[in-house]
Parts: sequence; structure tokens; C-alpha cells
Amino acid sequence: QAFSELNLAEPLARAVAEMGYETMTPIQAQAIPVVLQGRDVMGAAQTGTGKTAAFSLPLLQRLLRHANTSTSPARHPVRALVLLPTRELADQVAQQIKLYAKYTPLRSAVVFGGMDMKPQVEELRKGVEVLVATPGRLLDHIEAKTAVLNQVEYVVLDEADRMLDIGFLPDLQRILSYLPKQRTTLLFSATFSPEIKRLAASYLQDPVVIEV
Ligand code: AMP
Repeated sequence: QAFSELNLAEPLARAVAEMGYETMTPIQAQAIPVVLQGRDVMGAAQTGTGKTAAFSLPLLQRLLRHANTSTSPARHPVRALVLLPTRELADQVAQQIKLYAKYTPLRSAVVFGGMDMKPQVEELRKGVEVLVATPGRLLDHIEAKTAVLNQVEYVVLDEADRMLDIGFLPDLQRILSYLPKQRTTLLFSATFSPEIKRLAASYLQDPVVIEV
């Protein structure tokens, strides 16, 4: 299936074409239409399958419906939160999202541990619609009130099995408790272990299950 059949918004279609994507990968073909509908998703997919575009493109498309071109930070609340287990993964996903969003007015940033908070605080202060983060550092920003999450519409728990392996469950639970109940939740995991199924049962509403 071709990206051109998706009717993506022009700025997204342009970015995708520029990156040389033509055919969707299996996870993209299955997940993109479902996320565009606003449904929750529980997806089994490894890295390297095109998972990042599978959730980022439809999320950006949905965010574009009410995108704000104002330069005022107050007009750019965090609307989508993407959580990943490691700084490397967070950095990679954030870089991909920046490429997909480059022709849109949507802003993104990444925060992870092991680095000075200050540059991250500066970026957050400017206002970003899409925040990519590792759980521990995100909690630091929530506590410092430099990340405000009460307007989040979409949350992605990416590499969820690895987040649980690292012991991030309590952090995830705390973060999710700060988010509006009315939201879309996407969970991706290499495997659907009993722990992952329990997490999904607690935080996803009537998810579409996708296994590729
Ligand atoms: P991911 O699994 O999201 O880490 O993506 C793996 C790599 O595949 C990244 O470098 C993407 O830029 C690339 N990619 C994702 N989707 C496609 C596609 N439909 N066609 C070609 N390359 C893609």
C-alpha cells in the first residue's frame, strides 16, 4: 500500500516523499488508519519495522487539525507525549519526528537523563506540541513544573516491554496519572507478556490489537 493513498496532509506527504518512502511497511499499513481514527492501539512491533512513522505520521496529522501558528509559548502546550526507555531511543525517535514535522507548524523536543536540565527547560519554555522523553527525566520536569501535561491528547508508550524491564512501571504510573483521562493511548512492545497485557488493560480503552 502506498503512502499516497493515505490522504496525508500536504506538509506530511511532502516530508514523507522527501525521505523516499513510497510503500508502507506492514505495521504502518495497519496502524496508520487506526490511529487516524483516534483509536487506542496495542501494537507488537520491533524497531526497524517502521514503527516510528506508524505512530508519528497519524499523530502529527491529528495534531495538525488544531495546529497553532502563533509564536506565543502558551499557544503550544504539550499535546502528544512519546515515552521511551533509553536516551538513544528517545533521541532517534525525536529526530525522526522532527523530519516528519519539518513542513508543519508543530514543534517537538526531547528530554532524557544524564544531561543538564537547563537546555531542556529552555526548549520546553518555548512551547512544544510533541514531547519525546524517558520516564525519569520527564518526572523531574513535571516536578519542576517545566513540563505541563494537562493538555496531552495522545500518549505513546514505545518499547513498553523494555520500559518495564528497566523498572519504569512506577514512573509510568505516576506520569500517566498526570494526564487527562480523555486521551488516546498507543502502546508498542516487542512481545505481549502478561505484564504488558496488564499495563494495556489498565491504561488503554478498547484498543485495536496489531501484530505484524
Ligand atoms: P523504525 O522501525 O521506526 O526505527 O524505522 C526504521 C527505519 O526505516 C528508519 O530509518 C525509517 O526512516 C525507515 N522507514 C520507515 N518507514 C519506511 C518506509 N515506509 N519506507 C522506507 N523506509 C522507511
